[in-house]
Amino acid sequence: MKDSSCCSTSTHANKCIECTVTQCKHHAQGQNYCSLDKIQVGTHEKNPTVPSCTDCNSFAPKQTT
Ligand code: SF4
Repeated sequence: MKDSSCCSTSTHANKCIECTVTQCKHHAQGQNYCSLDKIQVGTHEKNPTVPSCTDCNSFAPKQTT
């Protein structure tokens, strides 16, 4: 897995969406990217000022059962 060719594995890493939330079921496991084509980012604050004020609204917990 040295070359830069993509899409040869079952999990598609979208290199436009870097993400480290491995607990999310959309995370491209093994690579720090999201596997979705697009995501929605929102906020839970009235006046967001720092990155932690924002949320990935496309997050979904992994189902391991
Ligand atoms: S949906 Fe959001 S939290 Fe989940 S892997 Fe993609 S960017 Fe990360």
